[in-house]
Amino acid sequence: MQQRQFLLGQKDIPKQWYNIAADIPVPPPPPLNPVTKEPAGPQDLSAIFCNSIIEQEISNERWIDIPEPVLDALAMWRPSPLYRAIRLEEKLGTPAKIFYKYEGTSPVGSHKLNTALAQAYYNKQEGIKRLATETGAGQWGCALALSCSYFGMECTVYMVKVSYHQKPYRKSMIQSFGATIYPSPSPQTKFGRSIIEKDPDSPGSLGIAISEALEDTVSNKGVKYSLGSVSNHVLLHQTVIGQECKKQMEMAGVYPDVVIGCVGGGSNFAGIAFPFIADKIAGKEVRAVAVEPTACPTLTKGEYRYDFGDTAQMTPLFKMYTLGSDFMPPGIHSGGLRYHGMAPLVSLCYDQGLIEAVAYPQLDVFDAAVQFAKAEGIIPAPESSHAIKCAIDEAIKAKEEGKERVILFNVSGNGYLDLGAYDAYFAGQLTQT
Ligand SMILES: *Cc1c(COP(=O)(O)O)cnc(C)c1O
Repeated sequence: MQQRQFLLGQKDIPKQWYNIAADIPVPPPPPLNPVTKEPAGPQDLSAIFCNSIIEQEISNERWIDIPEPVLDALAMWRPSPLYRAIRLEEKLGTPAKIFYKYEGTSPVGSHKLNTALAQAYYNKQEGIKRLATETGAGQWGCALALSCSYFGMECTVYMVKVSYHQKPYRKSMIQSFGATIYPSPSPQTKFGRSIIEKDPDSPGSLGIAISEALEDTVSNKGVKYSLGSVSNHVLLHQTVIGQECKKQMEMAGVYPDVVIGCVGGGSNFAGIAFPFIADKIAGKEVRAVAVEPTACPTLTKGEYRYDFGDTAQMTPLFKMYTLGSDFMPPGIHSGGLRYHGMAPLVSLCYDQGLIEAVAYPQLDVFDAAVQFAKAEGIIPAPESSHAIKCAIDEAIKAKEEGKERVILFNVSGNGYLDLGAYDAYFAGQLTQT
C-alpha cells in the first residue's frame, strides 16, 4: 500500500514564524504616508494596528517566536495534514507525484485562523476591547470572530454584500462565534452611506468593506483594525503552513519541483511558498506559482506601483501589483480572490522573478474542483480550486513531457459552506468570469 497521509504530532507545530523580508535580495519598498508621500513610520500605522503587530509589520528579523498562548490555540487543529493525491494521479495517468497541504481542517475551514488567533492575542495583550474587520466570502470573518471569542474580545465584521447573500451560512457562523456583522456597503459608516447613495444596488467589494472597517476603527476608542491578508505580518503568520510542509515532504522522501497556491491578497500562497523560496534564494531549484482568477488578474494584468489598499484611500500607499483601488471585480464565487491589490512581499517576489503567476477563468476552476473532489473526497473552496486547476495542468504537462515531477499545492480551505456555488455550477448558471 502506498503512503497517502503524512501526519505530524502536536510537538511539530513550528515554534517560530519565517520572515522572508530578511532574505529577499532587494529591500522591500516602504509604505508611504498618503499625504506627505514620505515613508510611513510606525506612527502612521498606530491608529489602526497595535504595537506588536506594527513591530512585525516592519521587522527584518528572519525568525520571530510564536507566543505560547498562540501555540496553544493553533494546537486546536495544527499541524494540518499533507496528503499525496494518489487517486488523482491515477485518474490523470501522470508520472508526477502530487501532494497537497489541507488547511480545511481548521475549525473555521480555512488557513485564515493561523493569523486571526495571533492578531487577537496581541491586541488583547495591549488592552484592545474590540476588533473591526472586513470579510469577502466570509472565511476571514469566521476566523476573526472565533479568535476574538477565544481571547475574550468583541468583533465587528463588514461583509461584502454580494457574498453576504451568496453565502448566508458564513454569516450564521460569524454570529455563532459572537461577532456583529453588517453587509457592506452598510448604513453603519459615512463611507458606506456615500456608496449606497450613489449606487443602492452596489454588490460591494473588499476595498469598500476595508474602508468601512477602518472608519469604524478610527472613530471609536479601544478599537483596532484587523486584516486577513496582504500585510507583511499576516503573511508571516501563515508561514507555519510551508514549514510543516517541508517536514512532511521530507517524511515522503521528496522535495517539490513546483509549489502552487491561489492568490487573493497573497497570504496562503506566501504561507506555503515562502519557506521554499528561502531555499530558492539560497540556490536550490524550486518553482512557485501564484494562481488568480482571470476576473481579478492582479499579478498577470496589474501594474507594479504605489496604490491604496482600500477604496476610500484611507490606508498608506503600498508598492504592489494592483488593478487600481477603485477596481470593481465581477461577483465570481471565489469571493476571497476579489481584491484589487497583491501583498507587497508577494509583489516584490514576482517583480524579482522569484515566483510565477497564472490566471484561470471560473468554469475551468470548477471543472478542476469537481475532478479533485471525485478523486480525493474533499470538496475544496472555490478559491483553493484555482491552485488545484494549476496543479492538474502541471501534472498533465509532466505526462506530455514524460517527466517525473513533484507537485505541491495548498488547499487553503474546504468548500462545505460554498455548496451554493457548486449548485450554480451544476445548474449551468456559472459564467467564465
Ligand atoms: C481568503 C481565502 C483565500 C485568499 O486569500 P489569500 O490571502 O490570498 O490566501 C484563499 N482561499 C481561502 C479558502 C480563503 O478563505
